[in-house]
Amino acid sequence: MKRTRFAPSPTGLLHLGNVYSALTCEQWAKEHDTQLLLRVEDIDFTRCKPTHTEQLQHDLAWLGIHFHAVSFQQQRLALYEKVLQQLIDMEVLYPCFCTRKQVDAALHAQSESKLNTLHQRLDVYPGTCKLLAMQQRQQKMLEQTYAWRLNAAVVSEMIGQYCVWYDTQGVAQNFKVLDIGDVIIGRKDIRFSYHLCVVVDDAIQGISHVIRGEDLRSSTPVHRVLQLLLGYDSPAYLHHKLITNQEGTRLAKSKASPTLKSLRDSGVTAKQIRQSLGF
Ligand code: GLU
Repeated sequence: MKRTRFAPSPTGLLHLGNVYSALTCEQWAKEHDTQLLLRVEDIDFTRCKPTHTEQLQHDLAWLGIHFHAVSFQQQRLALYEKVLQQLIDMEVLYPCFCTRKQVDAALHAQSESKLNTLHQRLDVYPGTCKLLAMQQRQQKMLEQTYAWRLNAAVVSEMIGQYCVWYDTQGVAQNFKVLDIGDVIIGRKDIRFSYHLCVVVDDAIQGISHVIRGEDLRSSTPVHRVLQLLLGYDSPAYLHHKLITNQEGTRLAKSKASPTLKSLRDSGVTAKQIRQSLGF
């Protein structure tokens, strides 16, 4: 059985951008005889609120979207911990003690440097903590909090320099493993990164097709690499367009973006919402 999911993060009320994504998942599932799951990505306890989780379930039911099952990332913390440990044991992660400020300063210095080469991307962590001597690293681990970063160079040697993910049309999308950079897999604050949890969930939930916004396209190579390291099957991916307002600002980013709740409260029907978004 084919299976897809809608995976909102309850950091606020659903707006039309989220609704467009949910309806795209629903339509795709219907057209492809696929089960649709709701996965509430509530891992970030600093930003997610139970009231938002309740409201989003209410909103989606009001819209008339039927989900085969509902799950919550908060209920899988032990599993994420196990997988994070597995990656640490594989020696594909290293602890990073840098603050956001330090990372920004290092990136800035790198971009100014004459040594900067074409394949050094500005958003890629320059690897400061990767270069720490073992003793220094161990000492810092006792004294400071830290994140776990993927050692892209080590991974590239392990799984090969080039990698591929497939879109829902079966078209291969090639990428260079080094280009994903030393992304954070274990966070300093909430322990698990979005990437880790999504990859684990897609695997254990048997997700065969991931339908999500274009904004997450750059995450797909990271997910593919984690799947390879962990021996998971890889879903096929479709990245749908993002809804913008008249000024061209993404609804997710626009403060003025109407929420589904406010539209409903002003008397707009679910049918009108669906129609206005082209469904
Ligand atoms: N929770 C993510 C978001 O709301 C989506 C995750 C995904 O579809 O992979 O942006």
